[in-house]
Amino acid sequence: MRILFSLIFLLITTSSFAATFNGEFIQGSFILGKTEPGSEVFIDKKKIKVTSDGYFAFGLGRDRKNDIIITINKKKIVKKVYKREYKIQRIDGLEEKKVTPPEEVYERIKRENKWIGKARAINSDLTYFTKNFILPIENSIITGVYGSQRILNGKPKWPHYGLDFAAKEGTKIKAMLDGIVTLVEPDLFYTGGTLIFDHGHGISTLYMHMEKVLVKKGQTVRQGDVIGTVGSTGRATGAHLDVRLNWFDIRLDPATVLDIK
Ligand SMILES: [Zn+2]
Repeated sequence: MRILFSLIFLLITTSSFAATFNGEFIQGSFILGKTEPGSEVFIDKKKIKVTSDGYFAFGLGRDRKNDIIITINKKKIVKKVYKREYKIQRIDGLEEKKVTPPEEVYERIKRENKWIGKARAINSDLTYFTKNFILPIENSIITGVYGSQRILNGKPKWPHYGLDFAAKEGTKIKAMLDGIVTLVEPDLFYTGGTLIFDHGHGISTLYMHMEKVLVKKGQTVRQGDVIGTVGSTGRATGAHLDVRLNWFDIRLDPATVLDIK
């Protein structure tokens, strides 16, 4: 009797702060949560927005080792974050100027990173992130994955945070999700023709190395709309599309929201 009573009590207390999660608790993952509308939600120590129907979003960084603590109406849910193994890509014999950018472009790189950082920091009330993403290019081969560590001429470089789609110059690129354009740049040093979309609550996507950009800053774009074409602008080795997914300054794996094999 006593056991039964505590069991019922446990069911009641867990259901009163229940949340469901769509997404795996692995490094790089995008996670969509749902709870009671009007709830107060913290991810670790960061208070996050909840939509009027109870949705919230967050992500797990590439190298996150600690458990993640989701606090809903002061009740804690602790989830273990599973580790992934990333590819190591060594390329030797590269021209030195391709490995380390020349000093005269340092200021430019700093300035451009600031613009990108500003777009990624937007914390709007948009709720587009609650929908499913679609592929930006259909029937394309993936030539680069999230997380790979690049070692160029023996020097460890930034990991690759995007997902690369091989496609011919001029191939149409579709918006993966509804969003508002927050950055349009035709020629950034690293990323060339670059677009950033805000999908709400700190979730943003980036499209890089584009040949043509067909949308304007501030424009609302619908999923599937053609937003530009594939190019090899910026520091690209050939024509391809590199897409990125962020939760604020945390870079997530776009493959965790796309239907790819
Ligand atoms: Zn790439």
